[in-house]
Amino acid sequence: MLPSSKIESRQPTTNSQPPPRALIGVLALQGDFDAHRKRLEELGAEVVLVRKPEQLDSIDGLVIPGGESSTFLKLLGEAGVEKLKEFVRLKPTFGTCAGAILLAQEIDNPKQAGLGAIDIGIRRNAYGRQIDSSIREGSFQGSPVEMVFIRAPKISRVGPGVEVLATEGEQPVVVRQGKVMAATFHPELSSDGRIHQAFLDLLRNGAGR
Ligand code: GLN
Repeated sequence: MLPSSKIESRQPTTNSQPPPRALIGVLALQGDFDAHRKRLEELGAEVVLVRKPEQLDSIDGLVIPGGESSTFLKLLGEAGVEKLKEFVRLKPTFGTCAGAILLAQEIDNPKQAGLGAIDIGIRRNAYGRQIDSSIREGSFQGSPVEMVFIRAPKISRVGPGVEVLATEGEQPVVVRQGKVMAATFHPELSSDGRIHQAFLDLLRNGAGR
């Protein structure tokens, strides 16, 4: 992972203090991590930008932003990927676009290794060149929601344990399995906070696999 001049960490607490609020990390190696940070903070979350593997030890949940999934893999390196694999097995994680690709069980176009954290198949850059970016209206828990797609992937297979939370047309675009949530679009680029709120709810309420 990249070196960082500024590593933020939580102060240790003593038994007499109330438990700290959940601390959410946003992976800040590349991509639009700052928009996620802002959105989560607007929703009242405590957020830290994660640039070093050891920071994963002190966070309660993680957002993996959009960007380029192959670049993420390069920047993470083998050790970073292993550390992240371990994290996503244990703690709530939300991946958007490239983040969703990284979390998937199977990745194609082209084939790529990932974290295998959610039982879906995903196809990179699946909307083709003409419409590689678009803003559409989809449906989230029965209500319309704006969805910004940027060189977005499509979910090609949804495993039996995976819940579809949002669709665009016939396409599943937000899915969840246990503690892991994935969106193929960029909810941080719309003014609607509901998708991030769903992740915060998952974090707060816990979810068994
Ligand atoms: N096309 C990118 C990939 O394959 C994802 C694009 C995005 O995150 N907006 O990783």
